[in-house]
This record gives sequence, C-alpha cells and structure tokens, in this order.
Amino acid sequence: MDCIFCKIANKEIPTNLIYEDENVAAFNDLNPQAPVHFLVIPKKHYASLSEIDSKEAFGNIFSAIPKITAKLGIKEYRTVVNTGADAGQTVFHIHVHVMAGRKFNWPAG
Ligand code: 5GP
Ligand code: ZN
Repeated sequence: MDCIFCKIANKEIPTNLIYEDENVAAFNDLNPQAPVHFLVIPKKHYASLSEIDSKEAFGNIFSAIPKITAKLGIKEYRTVVNTGADAGQTVFHIHVHVMAGRKFNWPAG
C-alpha cells in the first residue's frame, strides 16, 4: 500500500522518531503549527479514527502521548485528530497531532 506513514513506521522512509514502541511511532510534523508539533501513529495501518477496531489500538496510541510529553517536559498541549477531508485530514493513516509551546485558541477554525 502506498501510504507515507506506513513507510515512516516501517523505516522505508528514514525519519527521526522521537518515540517508538512495538505498536506506535512518533515523529515531528513536516510543517509544524507550533514550536512543538509531533504526530503519533499506530504502526498498523488504519485510514482514520473511524477504522480503529479495538480498545487496544486506541490505548496503544493514546497511552504513548503522556510518556512522550513527560520525556519532553511538556505539561500543556493540544491534541487533534482530524477525521475525513472536511475535518482537515490529508494523510489517511490515523495520526494524533500533539502541539505545544504556544497558546491555542478554541474553538478550532
Ligand atoms: P492531517 O491534515 O491529515 O491531520 O495531518 C497530516 C500532517 O502530516 C500534516 O500536519 C503534515 O504536515 C504532516 N505530514 C505530511 N506528510 C508528512 C511527511 O512525509 N513527514 C512528516 N513528518 N509529516 C508529514
Ligand atoms: Zn498507512
């Protein structure tokens, strides 16, 4: 499958991973929207949040986030999951955006 985030996860595209375990990888966003902006992905391909089929998969992704932020010394951060084109999804391999280092507005635009 021609999926850029699968290629990052399986190291076909060499990328500096800021976190990795058996199920999950995290790396800095190519086009950061905040001083800190990284993406957390499952190594297994799911096109979007709607396709995730197990609590384990959710747990693997989300439980990595506090580990990474603790490692980076980040206490306040914005997490975003865009699902579908109208919501702003452009890469169809689920990813959680984690952004920090500035103040964020709400509601999102
Ligand atoms: P989405 O719009 O799908 O929620 O987010 C996709 C994100 O992936 C964007 O913030 C974009 O900058 C990032 N991105 C797209 N291609 C690559 C890539 O090849 N490497 C990295 N590190 N980030 C990417
Ligand atoms: Zn993929």
